[in-house]
Amino acid sequence: MRVGVIGLGAMGNGMARNLHRHGLLAAVWNRSTDKAEALARELDVAQAQDPQALARVCDVVLTCVSRDEDVLDVIAAVAGALDDGKLVVDCSTIAVDTALAAARHVQAAGAAFVDAPVSGGKEGADNGQLVFMVGGDAQHVERLQPAFDAMGKSATHMGPVGAGQAAKAVNQIMAAGINQAVTEALAFGEASGLDMAKVIDVVSGGAAGNWFLEKRGPTMVQGVFTPGFKLALHHKDLSICKQMAAARGVALPVIEMTLKHYERLMQAGHGDEDISVLYRSKREMFEKGNLKRL
Ligand code: NAP
Repeated sequence: MRVGVIGLGAMGNGMARNLHRHGLLAAVWNRSTDKAEALARELDVAQAQDPQALARVCDVVLTCVSRDEDVLDVIAAVAGALDDGKLVVDCSTIAVDTALAAARHVQAAGAAFVDAPVSGGKEGADNGQLVFMVGGDAQHVERLQPAFDAMGKSATHMGPVGAGQAAKAVNQIMAAGINQAVTEALAFGEASGLDMAKVIDVVSGGAAGNWFLEKRGPTMVQGVFTPGFKLALHHKDLSICKQMAAARGVALPVIEMTLKHYERLMQAGHGDEDISVLYRSKREMFEKGNLKRL
């Protein structure tokens, strides 16, 4: 299997490295050429001139870019070099409908499409410990197994194309609730004058322990919000989740509240910081008090 990776951001960089470690990486391409240049030089792999050149030398094209429209742009850019037997696997988080549209474009060009959004954060991408939620035909998913094994700890076939993204939406709603709970509880702990290193340690070992608390708790209490996962990207995901819930006649409180909180932070210039920057807003509540406003 020869895999080409398009999109060498926080996630794609680590994924490409792990494919390389397993002898599966044939080429890389990134919109900003400096990232592709640096990685291609370091790993001694081909830096493709453009997405089409990458698709020509690979049998699997893996995309991990920001938003729905970016995935469709990249698919349009590779389409001319897709032919029978090639596979496009998209690991970005996008709407189910966009995954279905991407699949139609890829199929029209003569290849096959699989959606495989991921969970596990930048750490999971770097350490080859991602969890893949996969949608597509069983034969294509099976063919991708060596790549999933190189980059992750599990790949679960959820159903046809789009099913991976539907599962990822569940993950993103839960991640919003966890962000709300962890940032709020830690801000409360800090306002109570506790030793926060001890709080994070003791809570992590009990029933309220979770990945986000362990990975982001120690940095957020120090005011460090390096991504990680950019707040503007989670906002994009929750907008997708909001539409999915609305299609079922429901407005979910966690989604609505988190979108509102993220929008305030984005307006204040924090969109490119990690989602744990929500801690700023929670801390502010304790500084200013909000009882009168409730
Ligand atoms: P990121 O660090 O912001 O990187 C985004 C990548 O997409 C960059 O390589 C960027 O190129 C590329 N890109 C954006 N628009 C493009 C376009 N129109 N054409 C070509 N390339 C384009 O984002 P990330 O954190 O890696 O996230 C990537 C995807 O994974 C997103 O859908 C995100 O929601 C999802 N995800 C992220 C995490 C996480 O913890 N970070 C976890 C799970 C899933 P440039 O370098 O030129 O900007």
